Amino acid sequence: MTKILGLTGGIASGKSTADVFFRDKQIPVIDCDQIAHDILNRDEKGYELVLKHFGTSILKSDRSINRSELGQIVFNDKKQLETLNGITHPLIFQEIQAKIALNNMNKNSLVVVDAPVLFESNGQKYCDFTLLIAIPESLQMKRLMLRDHLSERAALKRIRSQMPLSQKEKLADFVINNTGTKQDLKSKLEKLLLNIKGEDLYGMS
Ligand code: ADP
Repeated sequence: MTKILGLTGGIASGKSTADVFFRDKQIPVIDCDQIAHDILNRDEKGYELVLKHFGTSILKSDRSINRSELGQIVFNDKKQLETLNGITHPLIFQEIQAKIALNNMNKNSLVVVDAPVLFESNGQKYCDFTLLIAIPESLQMKRLMLRDHLSERAALKRIRSQMPLSQKEKLADFVINNTGTKQDLKSKLEKLLLNIKGEDLYGMS
């Protein structure tokens, strides 16, 4: 059976950077953000459902969903965000399950599920292990502002809208602090893999 490592962390904590490491090791990574994006593409299930609730004002002239418009609506209205999550989460979940099943079929011994809202959506119950990439808020601000060209205010708003790090730390099986260089992060991930392998759960295929 494929073992599932749920990977999570706040925005700009280093999840994508960790994904690159895992993929380089030939460990498949299921990217939940990518799935969340894809299910709203035209001809996908989420598209019609979202349109039905939010109306055609969220469409661009080419009839694709205007994601920043949709973001504006839901990030300023908790109820609308709940509705959107109610529509998209089951579809995202189905897609993750399908991808895990495929990896199981292909006899991959370990699969990483990169899920930014893993704990918020109680997704840890579907994982064999969970890994939290942690960084202090000051460094998170710095990296987020640099990566997404955000103002201090906008960066802080995004960070503060997420579950606090202290709460996530209590829920994670493994915590890796990404306060050093990218090479430091790689070394820590390497150690983690050895740790998992030590439990005979990685490298069995
Ligand atoms: P996430 O996927 O969690 O949002 P990223 O992996 O994109 O975060 O990292 C956020 C930003 O910080 C990116 O620009 C990335 O290149 C940079 N970064 C990640 N880890 C480090 C590190 N250890 N040192 C310096 N920059 C880093």
